[in-house]
Amino acid sequence: MRRLDLCEISRNTNRPTTRGTAGRTSSQPHNGESLELLQELQRAVQACQRCIIITGAGISVSSGIPDFRSPDGLFQQLKQKYPNAVSNGKDLFDATLFTDPGMISVFYNFMGELRNLVSQANCTPTHRFIKDLEERGKLLRCYTQNIDSLEKRIGLETSFEKPVDCFVPAKETVCSDSMSENSAGSAAKQGEASSEPARQRKNTSGRRRQTTLDKTFTRAVQLHGDLDNVICTICHTRYPFTKQLAEEFCEGAPPPCPRCKEIEVIRDLVGKRSVASGVLRPDIVLYNETHPQSEIIGALSEYDLKRRPDLLIVIGTSLKIPGIKRMVKEMSRCVRDCSAKTKRAGAGKTILINRDEPPRGWEDVFDIYVSGESDRVIELLPALPTECATSEQETASDGSKGSKISSAE
Ligand SMILES: [Zn+2]
Repeated sequence: MRRLDLCEISRNTNRPTTRGTAGRTSSQPHNGESLELLQELQRAVQACQRCIIITGAGISVSSGIPDFRSPDGLFQQLKQKYPNAVSNGKDLFDATLFTDPGMISVFYNFMGELRNLVSQANCTPTHRFIKDLEERGKLLRCYTQNIDSLEKRIGLETSFEKPVDCFVPAKETVCSDSMSENSAGSAAKQGEASSEPARQRKNTSGRRRQTTLDKTFTRAVQLHGDLDNVICTICHTRYPFTKQLAEEFCEGAPPPCPRCKEIEVIRDLVGKRSVASGVLRPDIVLYNETHPQSEIIGALSEYDLKRRPDLLIVIGTSLKIPGIKRMVKEMSRCVRDCSAKTKRAGAGKTILINRDEPPRGWEDVFDIYVSGESDRVIELLPALPTECATSEQETASDGSKGSKISSAE
């Protein structure tokens, strides 16, 4: 692994930038070796056709969302804010917190605040770089550990299910997940057992929108979910994580699930015994929890390995999570194997971009380690032909929220 330190690269690249000015510093003289590495990095991006990107919290810091592990990151902030309840900020992202009523209150308060912070965040130049790669047909997939949905906001597809129109013949019985059509009887029945099969109803003929798993459809896999929705702990109904719900979260108590409450009322009306009622929690995956769609994620990453990726860029992560470590190592092996076979000039590199150096053991995984904030590194890559930002996202490109940069995760 060779190291490219951005401090050694002149800021005066004589290249017009289209990526804002976040992180600019005064000019410094070129260092020959660093410049050579930078050119190698540029060639790798230019030459690649099937890039895999794996990201962590470091890519969102310039949008105003703190990372996790840096000295001024979320874990430290949580310790300072809740000194009596939180000895380690990581505890607030661990599923075992639900066994401690004090921690539950802190968790809800924190998640309400985090949701509000995330909802105001703008996409960064790094998010736009990933989207640019997709628009140029170079991105196989992005895997992100972030729960801020900025990939979704920049226009990368994050859903696992592709909507398709299909014809449904008259009187065919199909499943429905519409809550609004709940009958009193079925709702009361659903409260009886979680293993109850999905409610069914008769359909009239016509075109219906259903979903299917298409392995090329998802462009950004959110490995830990996101803060766009909350989910019931009992019936697993999802609701949008609205500002109003965030305010309830900030009060420190879990809001009850509307559907469970409805079932409770109906059961009471028909004289049935009461059953457990759920509360709402953020639809994210905590430590010591399994992603509910882990099988799909596994299938997608296996599929990507078979598609022979020719560039791996890992950005803004301290590589501490075991699942991520495994994924990065597998992808790296695959990129190198593929490049050895194809021998296409410039391609086949494995690159880490992060402010902090990776721990020991990663020297053989990456060809190049770029030390620096990802937005600055992205600025030095070849200008891409199209700007992808929408008017809302364009606001983000001025970097106005992004002066605070710190290390990944
Ligand atoms: Zn519920």
